[in-house]
Amino acid sequence: MLGRKKRVTIPETGQQTYFKKCPIGTPRDQAATAMATLFRFSVRLLPVSAAVTCRSFRFPHSMLNRKLYNSSSSPSSLTTKAGWLLGLGDKKKKSILPEIVAAGDPVLHEKAREVDPEEIGSERIQKIIDDMIKVMRLAPGVGLAAPQIGVPLRIIVLEDTKEYISYAPKEEILAQERRSFDLMVMVNPELKERSNKKALFFEGCLSVDGFRAAVERYLQVVVTGYDRQGKRIEVNASGWQARILQHECDHLDGILYVDKMVPRTFRTVDNLDLPLAEGCPKLGPQ
Ligand SMILES: [Zn+2]
Repeated sequence: MLGRKKRVTIPETGQQTYFKKCPIGTPRDQAATAMATLFRFSVRLLPVSAAVTCRSFRFPHSMLNRKLYNSSSSPSSLTTKAGWLLGLGDKKKKSILPEIVAAGDPVLHEKAREVDPEEIGSERIQKIIDDMIKVMRLAPGVGLAAPQIGVPLRIIVLEDTKEYISYAPKEEILAQERRSFDLMVMVNPELKERSNKKALFFEGCLSVDGFRAAVERYLQVVVTGYDRQGKRIEVNASGWQARILQHECDHLDGILYVDKMVPRTFRTVDNLDLPLAEGCPKLGPQ
């Protein structure tokens, strides 16, 4: 039963879930949402022919987002427009958050570059990390890789909260070995499996919005890399956290879950609860 709860999803490797309210972001996040809404309406309100023409000339989100991180550029025209549209005025100009890159953009299929460890503390890298966290939480999602905001660098962020988990069915939480964990930022992560044990579960991706598919993942992994302070870290993960880490690290190698899914399980979120087609492997430990 849905009751009065709003049915939403935790797209990045999460399951569909229910919120009484959508999580509300910071005022800056709200500004970004307002911008996105305005943009959507502005396209929808155009005559069909004009809207089609407009879309055909749109730059990929990754190109727009890369502009946000170009240190040589002067104050972004996007920022100025946002301030003007939202009536913020010059004194309250705020930069907007990058958009999530959707499947089809080449940046999602390319291998991301390592970050020079000496550069991790730089303003540019710290801003990319801050933006990734905000975009992930606003979505909301449990993980995000830098290529998903159009930045081809090996950075991932992930977080699973008690609140997110509380909306999932208990039997699902147990089966998936899903436990909350604090925000984790990893730069140049290197992942290895700790055992051959695998499990098959549905997962999704913020870049493949509205769909899910069953993907087999290792149940135990170890990931080494740098934290956002540039310190070496090692994370031993299992269950759902291990799945999120594998999903995000795949992004850094240009791999989407659709490249690894059991193809016949691919479906829309609305059909998630329907039985699998005959012959599909069963969900759970393999
Ligand atoms: Zn993803």
